[in-house]
Amino acid sequence: MKFASESEYLAYLDDVKQFLWTEIDPLVPQIEKDEYIPFDDLRPKFRKHHLFDCLVPETYGGLGLSTVEYAPVLKEIAKVHGGIRAQLHVHNSSVHLMEAGRPEQRHQYLPKMAAGDLMVCFGLTEPDSGSGLDSKSSAVRQGDVYLLNGRKHLITNAREAGLFAVFAFTQESDGSHREFSVLLVERGMPGFTVEPLAHTMGCAGGSHDMLLFENVPVPVDHVLGHTGMGSELLLAFLEISRVFIAVAALGTAERSLELAVNWSKQRETFGKPIATRQAVQGYLAEMATDVYALRHMILDALRKYDAGQRIPEESSMCKLFGLEAVGRVTDKSLLVHGGIGYLKSSPIEMLYRDARLNWLEEGTPTIHKLIIARTLLEEEFEKFGRGDELF
Ligand SMILES: Cc1cc2nc3c(=O)[nH]c(=O)nc-3n(C[C@H](O)[C@H](O)[C@H](O)COP(=O)(O)OP(=O)(O)OC[C@H]3O[C@@H](n4cnc5c(N)ncnc54)[C@H](O)[C@@H]3O)c2cc1C
Repeated sequence: MKFASESEYLAYLDDVKQFLWTEIDPLVPQIEKDEYIPFDDLRPKFRKHHLFDCLVPETYGGLGLSTVEYAPVLKEIAKVHGGIRAQLHVHNSSVHLMEAGRPEQRHQYLPKMAAGDLMVCFGLTEPDSGSGLDSKSSAVRQGDVYLLNGRKHLITNAREAGLFAVFAFTQESDGSHREFSVLLVERGMPGFTVEPLAHTMGCAGGSHDMLLFENVPVPVDHVLGHTGMGSELLLAFLEISRVFIAVAALGTAERSLELAVNWSKQRETFGKPIATRQAVQGYLAEMATDVYALRHMILDALRKYDAGQRIPEESSMCKLFGLEAVGRVTDKSLLVHGGIGYLKSSPIEMLYRDARLNWLEEGTPTIHKLIIARTLLEEEFEKFGRGDELF
């Protein structure tokens, strides 16, 4: 179901916003208190308001939104609650990963993902190694299966997912054909367990758990695409998903700015609203400048992506600038709120914590600086090496 006109799309966006602010926002205090998102109760509502199928192509029963059209949806979710944003972000970004599968894999999984019957998560990060090609997870072929061993941690939606896209090295039993690949592991496969990890600082209520694989027999046809596609899939998937993290940062930053502006007009000291103080105006102006810059960087990157261009540098720049901008904006919004902003009853307290996840998800600042520098210094890197390992 593609929208026939701009006005139909805008009506959809209005519906999503209305749903988020009238039905989800009132649940936020309880979610924060319990540190638990009641996903099974929310699933039918997310389905009704098309939050699972935004990015699934129409052929597979989704809305087939472009990334420019999807961004306002994700941004609004981030304004309301970071935990729900992280949950839906991983599900929706995983659509891009699954689209790289073979035709029968796309037919098998994408319609279920669109309906929200199947949550898919991706397992890249490991407790005992760096991400990507440093992976210690391995899958050795034995007849019709790969026996998967290894550990992944901090995996979002580990509690809710039915399918786990696991990055690991596949190889033949004699050690040959060692290739970085993605295996589709189903919940319930023998030898696969999920171990809960501690609650998070912000983006509360979701699951970010440990996946343990002990001789899990993964059928050979459960390799996403084909063996050896791991690096290619990882780079392509992260390229767009990292811009979506910047979109989430933009949502958090926009709401933080709006709260600061409103509070500065309400709060009076020495008989005048603090909005009349130049120092406070300075904070607001700096926040608005960050928001404006981030919004336009993202739009540029997404337009290029929708036009079919590769955007590795743009993606890392959006992610890097986004995490720095949302850090600055939430800092300043907290300062404008004064002490009242530090109380859990104030929304800026939650947004401040939510923003810190944007710093870590899908690559830390150092990693993004490395990617950006690599494109600037390609020749030097070739001659002298990169100084840092990456992927
Ligand atoms: C709530 C939450 C949800 C997450 N969800 C997922 C998920 O769904 N799937 C998933 O796979 N992962 C997930 N992650 C993991 C996340 O992507 C990683 O935590 C993040 O990329 C950083 O990797 P790390 O934790 O291994 O840090 P480390 O690699 O231990 O890094 C520690 C520090 O060292 C620096 N560093 C490390 N290696 C290098 C290098 N080669 N060069 C320069 N500096 C380096 C880093 O920049 C960082 O500052 C999640 C994390 C959190 C907190």
